[in-house]
Amino acid sequence: MSRPLRATIHLDALRANLAVARRHAPRSKVLAVVKANAYGHGLERAVRALANADGLALLELDAAVRLREAGYAKRIVLLEGFFEANELPALDRYRIAAAVHDAEQIAMLERFRPAAPLDILLKLNTGMNRLGFAPDTAAAALARLEACAAVGPVTLMTHFAEADDVRGVAWQVERFEAALGGRPHEKCFANSAAVLRYPETHHDWVRPGIMLYGSSPFVDTTAAALKLEPAMTLASRLIAVRELAPGERVGYGGTFTAERPIRIGVVACGYADGYPRHAPTGTPVNVGGTLTRTVGRVSMDMLSVDLTPVPQAAVGTPVELWGTACPIDEVARAAGTVSYELMCALAARVPVGEDGG
Ligand SMILES: *Cc1c(COP(=O)(O)O)cnc(C)c1O
Repeated sequence: MSRPLRATIHLDALRANLAVARRHAPRSKVLAVVKANAYGHGLERAVRALANADGLALLELDAAVRLREAGYAKRIVLLEGFFEANELPALDRYRIAAAVHDAEQIAMLERFRPAAPLDILLKLNTGMNRLGFAPDTAAAALARLEACAAVGPVTLMTHFAEADDVRGVAWQVERFEAALGGRPHEKCFANSAAVLRYPETHHDWVRPGIMLYGSSPFVDTTAAALKLEPAMTLASRLIAVRELAPGERVGYGGTFTAERPIRIGVVACGYADGYPRHAPTGTPVNVGGTLTRTVGRVSMDMLSVDLTPVPQAAVGTPVELWGTACPIDEVARAAGTVSYELMCALAARVPVGEDGG
């Protein structure tokens, strides 16, 4: 038998979650965000399942080119745009759209002669303070793009910093309106949290990412309550079982001490597989259909689980680290991170299969 750890990508969940995004934003076109290898789900496979989206958004030019060469015909947007002028011929040849967020990129466009005008999204910084033109420079940037022969119709874009949180989006929308309100251009603002909570931000195009993968962008609402289905299951088996006497400790550093006789299981999954090493004792895990907890430190290739609520568990019993029986959002919360990081960190050594195709 080979090492039992597997990731399974549920293509029907990706499709169902895209349908949820469409139900929330029925008048908008959907750019499915598939950056970072589709949040760890596998780019080609995710794109196949998300074929009904109106386009894709990612960061990596080589991935965008690969999708075009594989026949993907709808809009592809590079969320960080291009970095050097020598990427522009590929944008032209493969008809790839780019976010433009600083004046240097505009200067490169002004020196470039494409076969046909490029699809450009002008990115405004309305408070995220990561990428984008400051509101007071946005109108001039737009005028410059519109005067540039290399640029076709411009889409206006901004990104929300706290759509998933109490501060919401109104403050950023106000800054956008003050800078470029009332323009006839298409707009593209909403990430998953805004798709789900702020219909007034939907406009022409929405950009959901995490919700497509079946995870909630909110700390106060579960994925299940949002009707989102987990698109990734990470599952393994118990490869050893042992009984600990009181006072015995578990794993490196002995961070867990048995207070009474306890049965523990050893799972073939560790931080070299992408399971978070900082997940403490108590992180949820499903063993043989029952939710229980991890105990002790996660090691490179293994972790340990408390078998108290699963007395029938034995070597070979299935374990779900996250997926339909153990929400990834709860594992992430216990580990002090977000599901995005867990999905993206799935290691290359983990065999990936798919179902629901
Ligand atoms: C990653 C990203 C998104 C998607 O965000 P989610 O929270 O995953 O929905 C949308 N827009 C931009 C610019 C992004 O970088």
